[in-house]
Amino acid sequence: MKIIVILGAPGSGKGTVAARLVKTLPLKHVSTGDLLRAAAANADTPLAKSVAETMRKGELVSDEIVGSLVVEQLGKSGAEYEYFLLDGYPRNEKQAAFLEAKLAEGGRKVAKAVWLEVPQEVLVGRLSGRRTCPKCGAGFHVETMKPKVEGVCDACGGALVQRPDDAPENVANRLKVYEAKTASLLGWYEQRGILARVNGVGEADAIAAAVADAIK
Ligand code: ADP
Ligand code: ZN
Repeated sequence: MKIIVILGAPGSGKGTVAARLVKTLPLKHVSTGDLLRAAAANADTPLAKSVAETMRKGELVSDEIVGSLVVEQLGKSGAEYEYFLLDGYPRNEKQAAFLEAKLAEGGRKVAKAVWLEVPQEVLVGRLSGRRTCPKCGAGFHVETMKPKVEGVCDACGGALVQRPDDAPENVANRLKVYEAKTASLLGWYEQRGILARVNGVGEADAIAAAVADAIK
């Protein structure tokens, strides 16, 4: 199984690309954002509340919590998948080092890091117009990726919402956190000779095809 990391700012389209790739490749998509949202929604504990609040503001959830979710997923992933796509992890150098060490224990390593490159001004428009299905995680956009019926998920019929962290007052902070903590990972993977850059602007199917080429 090839372990792939997908990198890119919030709004760069990591989840959108992943949703397309799972339809065309034997690929397991692991999104730490989705895992954390599910964990926070399914428990009425102070810890779950604090995770939800951290996510709303766009700050990073603790390395320990996210790391243990990722280790759990790596342990579960079966041989039926050719690719294991990590979306949203690592998000800082400490997480990248943790992942590298964990994989090394099993003689494994990240095969490729794909960077979805999108200019800042495009990111803001994508995030503020994004609508998400809380039931299945599918993403839409009020102008550029409208659902067939307004407010209703094409995939499962769920009622679309604006994620609290997509509210305008939180978008700027998320982009700031990305620049401060995550952007340096491009250099981290470039140094290891496994960084692939993919233009993240354009038609979603074409971008997904370019990512598929990059990981094959
Ligand atoms: P986006 O990439 O659009 O910001 P995600 O769904 O990937 O959206 O992540 C949403 C939030 O989940 C992040 O802002 C952060 O609070 C939390 N999160 C996700 N992955 C991690 C991670 N690896 N480390 C810490 N926090 C994370
Ligand atoms: Zn849905």
